[in-house]
Amino acid sequence: MKWTHTLIPTLREAPADAEIVSHKLLLRAGLIRKLAGGVYTFLPLGLRALRKVEQIIREEMDRAGAIEVLMPALQPPEIWEASGRAETASNVLFKVKDSSGRQWFLSPTAEEVITTLAANEINSYRQLPKNFYQISLKFRDEIRPRFGLMRAKEFIMKDAYSFDTTDDGAMAAYKKMYEAYTRIFARCGLKTFPVEADTGVIGGNHSHEFMVPAETGENEVAFCEACGYAANIEKATSGIPKTAARDIGPAIEKFATPGVVTIEALSKEPYKVAANRQIKTLVYIADSKPVIILIRGDDQLNETKFLAKTGAVAARPATVEEIVPLLGAKPGSLGAVINVPASVQVFADERLRGANDMTTGANEDGFHLKNVSIERDIKVTAWYDLRTVSAGEPCVKCGKPLKIRRAIEVGHVFKLGTKYSEKLGATFLDVDGSRKPAVMGCYGIGVTRTLQAIIEQGNDKDGVVWPLSVAPYQVCLTPLAVAPDSQPMQLAEKYYAELTARGVDVILDDRDERPGVKFKDSELVGFPIRIGLGEKSLAKGEVEIKPRNGPIQYVKIEAAVEAVVKLITADS
Ligand code: ATP
Ligand code: MG
Repeated sequence: MKWTHTLIPTLREAPADAEIVSHKLLLRAGLIRKLAGGVYTFLPLGLRALRKVEQIIREEMDRAGAIEVLMPALQPPEIWEASGRAETASNVLFKVKDSSGRQWFLSPTAEEVITTLAANEINSYRQLPKNFYQISLKFRDEIRPRFGLMRAKEFIMKDAYSFDTTDDGAMAAYKKMYEAYTRIFARCGLKTFPVEADTGVIGGNHSHEFMVPAETGENEVAFCEACGYAANIEKATSGIPKTAARDIGPAIEKFATPGVVTIEALSKEPYKVAANRQIKTLVYIADSKPVIILIRGDDQLNETKFLAKTGAVAARPATVEEIVPLLGAKPGSLGAVINVPASVQVFADERLRGANDMTTGANEDGFHLKNVSIERDIKVTAWYDLRTVSAGEPCVKCGKPLKIRRAIEVGHVFKLGTKYSEKLGATFLDVDGSRKPAVMGCYGIGVTRTLQAIIEQGNDKDGVVWPLSVAPYQVCLTPLAVAPDSQPMQLAEKYYAELTARGVDVILDDRDERPGVKFKDSELVGFPIRIGLGEKSLAKGEVEIKPRNGPIQYVKIEAAVEAVVKLITADS
């Protein structure tokens, strides 16, 4: 490819709305352009890199025995009604109407479509196991699209769906995908680590996310360097001890706390109730019903855990206007000891189990209660692990201190069980003649997000540092004179032909620009190898070979092609 033939609109400065380095570089290196918030065009070089990522995914999915299909982006709502997700996933669904007024959903994922297909096409255990995958556009009505391709409204996902006759079979399919993902990300030159994950609106009971460590990541991960335990903070637990029981007086005591509405204020003079002896009372509206959540004063509620444990679809903090008529007091004086309507469920965090000598709100503005024993004085509907783990807590597996880091989720594998197959009728006749629902798994990779994560991980002050496997071109030929009869250009053309014949991806920078401009652009786009052809070094019989992340090597003109091929094969 010649530089002047394609379109590589590099920019000195990134547009102001690009916040993170990978987003800036995608724009500055001329890889993508924004059409609207969360909606992008791939320019020629961005598309080449994207296609290479897709190809790696395809090869590894095929190697793992998955079969490629392509499902429609337009999905009829009926299948979403049948799975029960029309409502639960409603906030991300793009809904469109055709000219007859019929509604369609734009595919945010495809469990419903593939399970419908399986219901129609698979009838016998003889046809199983099967794992179908596709690489296609997905649409999600993200409220806050940001960071370029990281959280877009329209993006490319590889999604796969496995169907097995038994639970063991499904577990084996899961393991195969887990291994394929490990290979895929390694081949993309991306350092990832798997973590235990929440299953969210997809459902199922076993799940891992593949994370790229990055300060700019939207996820937090708790991990243990000693034993390897790692989990999304939405799921992570720790070995932190429960609240110690103490000797207490027999009766609850009410005391005045005028103007005290925070855990912190109550922990100070004159009250001096340590945060870890306070019960924090939160009121949430979970699936339209008010509920009380009790957490220790020094802990934070983890809303994802709350949803996962209670099975609620949506939850939000109740407003003051909702709380006052319910409990008779404003936030800051709330509790679950007195004045709690019988219809309100009370969920308590496990760390409070057995706690006594606790202080909590009296459901009367300006008053608290002490000597509260949670199991004696509060009617707890259910106990769950609801708190967010923090750094330094003992690992749940080995007791060593946990660390927390930020990360980007690039892939997600789920064991689904029979949730979708039962609802959508994906059953098969087993060997014994009985009809059973297929046991499913689903497996996603954010292809466009992965591409950006590669840049987030591979860059320096000059631009992108691509791994050879996914670089838009592996080699950039940079003749410093471009007249067709000049020696640099003639040699560049010769190298171009020879390298291309050896299977190397080459771009020839035939622009009539100053060397500085050409070098800067090639660093910015990040081609792994640049061959500089200047009259001065050619006069000495040499060319410059500059690996993107290494020093210049001077190589004899005749040895250059071999040297480049060697660099490439050494890396792959
Ligand atoms: P997130 O938590 O980041 O919203 P998710 O858990 O909802 O993602 P999945 O349903 O697991 O996403 O989708 C599979 C993969 O698709 C994710 O691991 C991620 O890499 C990618 N992905 C999801 N949403 C987006 C988006 N809005 N833009 C780009 N990629 C996305
Ligand atoms: Mg996910």
